[in-house]
Amino acid sequence: MGDANPWSVPISDPGPQPASVIRVAVPVPLARGFDYHVPPEMPQPSVGGRVKVPFAGRNLMGICMALNPADAHAETKPVAEVVDTAPILAPELFELAEWMADYYLHPIGEVLATMLPTLARRGAPLHIAREESWTLTDAEGNLTRAPRQRELLEAIRANGAHATTRDLYEQGFSRAIIKAVAGKGLIRPAADEPRPSTPAKAPRPELTAEQKRVLEQFGEQASGFNPGLLEGVTGSGKTEVYLRLIEARCKDSQQALVLVPEIALTPQTVARFEQRFGAQGAVSSLHSNLSDGERLQAWLKCRSGETRVVIGTRSAVLAPFKNLGLIVVDEEHDGSFKQQDGLRYSARDVAVMRAQKLGIPLLLGSATPALESLNNANRGRYRHLRLRQRTGGASLPTFRLLDIRGQTLDHGLCNELIRIIGAHLEQGNQALIFLNRRGFAPSYLCASCGWQAQCAGCDMRMTLHRNPSVLACHHCGRREAVPERCGNCGSEALLGIGVGTQRTEAGLAERFPDIPLIRIDRDTTRSQKQMQARLDQINQGERAILLGTQMLAKGHHFPKVTLVGVINADAGFLSADFRAPERTAQLITQVAGRAGRAESAGEVWIQTYQPESELLLSLIQDGYEKINLRLGIGTETGSWQIAM
Ligand code: ADP
Ligand code: ZN
Ligand code: ZN
Repeated sequence: MGDANPWSVPISDPGPQPASVIRVAVPVPLARGFDYHVPPEMPQPSVGGRVKVPFAGRNLMGICMALNPADAHAETKPVAEVVDTAPILAPELFELAEWMADYYLHPIGEVLATMLPTLARRGAPLHIAREESWTLTDAEGNLTRAPRQRELLEAIRANGAHATTRDLYEQGFSRAIIKAVAGKGLIRPAADEPRPSTPAKAPRPELTAEQKRVLEQFGEQASGFNPGLLEGVTGSGKTEVYLRLIEARCKDSQQALVLVPEIALTPQTVARFEQRFGAQGAVSSLHSNLSDGERLQAWLKCRSGETRVVIGTRSAVLAPFKNLGLIVVDEEHDGSFKQQDGLRYSARDVAVMRAQKLGIPLLLGSATPALESLNNANRGRYRHLRLRQRTGGASLPTFRLLDIRGQTLDHGLCNELIRIIGAHLEQGNQALIFLNRRGFAPSYLCASCGWQAQCAGCDMRMTLHRNPSVLACHHCGRREAVPERCGNCGSEALLGIGVGTQRTEAGLAERFPDIPLIRIDRDTTRSQKQMQARLDQINQGERAILLGTQMLAKGHHFPKVTLVGVINADAGFLSADFRAPERTAQLITQVAGRAGRAESAGEVWIQTYQPESELLLSLIQDGYEKINLRLGIGTETGSWQIAM
């Protein structure tokens, strides 16, 4: 598989005349292209290929957008280097970039640069690096007197007539043995061939009636732009629906893109797809933890069509595909699909646009779809598909409110919740306590004059942290020493007000000194490795209290969790941000979905000062879908009763 133009149709016909002037998209904050001339001794550039051009005193890597533009500038500087003579971005991506530049009001040169892996942006050659590997030949040899060599042949045969040198080393074969067998012509290097993908081996579960109906409604085989919104409660088997759709697509050599939120991209997610679609390169993941080299390789294999299923976070929506046949956006409501700086875009919305331009099916999945997606479904723009039941007979958790009006809270917890936690632990289960505020106390106040510590950078209140003691702005990241005196009146009576995860952790540790506490928030769990260590500990299934922020709410399976306690539901519903009630309803629903995934049913207890809040009652009685009707879509009014 070479790296010459993998697309049969050139982006534009260069015509009989060689290009003398080209228009280049340069990664600078200016919304236009710049013209350069091509010195005659240089190779011919190609639309969609990289060129290095002088710009404001330095050379920048740009993408050639047009040859001999009709309105070319009269005076032009020469191109410094023609890096590619063939396009590196397909017309489809080029058009998507133009749409993004226009829609998000961002310079085209920067949009195109965002689409390229860092190394490609620096001019690296676009070659797929292959691992040295070996394949069997037709030759036969007598190895009766060389048992190790015979074992090597057996090992390669058992692996589908193909193995990498690394595989063989791992199985204890030395370089000398490999060379000896190769010397006899029994194996040969297979270094330049794409590795064959192993056919699906993993057993597929029998689909539930609901899953079958969803697949029929969506049209497993349907082609053309076909957007669907799969609203399925947590644990209802959405992922199985994705897997079946991809299977149907991949049969005729099409590729599939699965977008997942940042946090959900654990090795387990990828493993689940690998089990189904073969491990050897058919599935690849694109996320922020790749090295530059790994990212370039993943990008190239996606572009060449070798990777059949790409699982990626936000930016993977801009990955190149040879033959994209399906896009899935899992947890489509998730905030991490929005890029918040530089080129600000919503990966979900770009996915919809890309699927529409390509004329392919698109499936958005969530237990708690975003308001706008539900709205699109209600208006008939998306096919609305539903999974209402959990698979395997697991029941949905029951919701209960804890009226905390007039109660004294201990580190944020009321007595009743502490008692309930104890009862669940007694049964040998795990309890999950959800509090969407990290740090010790969300504000730091002077008890004498009311002064509040504020961020000097952005006027937000500072959060008090312990171990180490520091005031931190959760908005801009600024950190300051904790003052000992009031900045206004000099009093020493300073107090941390409110409850963050550190404070609740301290309270739980006092109450349950013998129970392991696993705190998951951005302070304890920064890397994928730290996350994995905590998930491993949880999955051992011993009694434990899990405590954390929204990082705990997403995607994970916690079979031993039978109790979810929500410490502070009110803040979200009362916030002035018009998105806050929607987001809070999503979070509560998602975190509740962690409970009772296995045989034992789960309970969700929500502490509230507003036990009669319509939003809260609607959420726990009628579920997420109805609360959205209440929040803004349609006029349907549900009926509800108090749960206690
Ligand atoms: P979701 O993505 O909706 O949260 P999953 O796809 O993770 O749900 O499914 C939840 C669990 O149910 C998983 O352990 C999965 O293997 C299992 N599962 C999914 N579909 C089926 C099925 N048809 N029969 C049996 N088990 C299933
Ligand atoms: Zn003061
Ligand atoms: Zn700040």
